[in-house]
Amino acid sequence: MSIQKQLLSILEELPKHVHLVAVSKTKPNADLKEAYAAGQRIFGENKIQEMTQKWETLPKDIQWHMIGNVQTNKVKYMAPYVSLIHGVDRYKLLKEINKQAAKSDRVIDCLLQMHIAQEDTKFGFNKEELETVVTDLKANPLPHIRIKGLMGMATFTDNQNQIRSEFKTLKQQFDWLQTQHPEANELSMGMSGDYALAIEEGSTMIRVGSKIFGSRNY
Ligand SMILES: *Cc1c(COP(=O)(O)O)cnc(C)c1O
Repeated sequence: MSIQKQLLSILEELPKHVHLVAVSKTKPNADLKEAYAAGQRIFGENKIQEMTQKWETLPKDIQWHMIGNVQTNKVKYMAPYVSLIHGVDRYKLLKEINKQAAKSDRVIDCLLQMHIAQEDTKFGFNKEELETVVTDLKANPLPHIRIKGLMGMATFTDNQNQIRSEFKTLKQQFDWLQTQHPEANELSMGMSGDYALAIEEGSTMIRVGSKIFGSRNY
């Protein structure tokens, strides 16, 4: 199926309150343009350099979401334009985003990444660390950062019960965050293989790559 058809078939089934991030990492501009022509405006990338090259050449009304792990020393390259950073997994990174956002006279929206999977390879805060960060932010506000919510990735498994229970955990953490930061209204959870489950469990933002653009060749 074409990119356009895949995209439209996903959008057709999507509840109104759920945003679709089209994950275009490794894909050429031609593929992004096809999705853009079908009306897609939010694209997700996991490498700052690749995202910046695409931002430079593609239409300026695209909203660029950084969904990958961010190296502190590369924040400056995306600070002028990035629309949402999903993968904030340490306080030091928030401070750097705040500093670079100030230079661009911007407030940058961020999601805190939570570690919910039973895999060591996935990054993120645990519950105690989340509470610490939120407390630290209250004591020392970072004026060029806006905490918009949480992001998490479930374990890569066929076990639907396990995925569902990890999503439930993330939703509970999100509900707690909202008691502290009422303006945090985005829960980024769900990818090509598990977004239907994620929506059932309260996702407001899904990150879908291969189901739109086909499998990736690294
Ligand atoms: C690559 C990636 C996705 C998209 O994965 P698909 O399985 O292709 O939909 C979603 N979230 C993150 C953080 C990713 O790195």
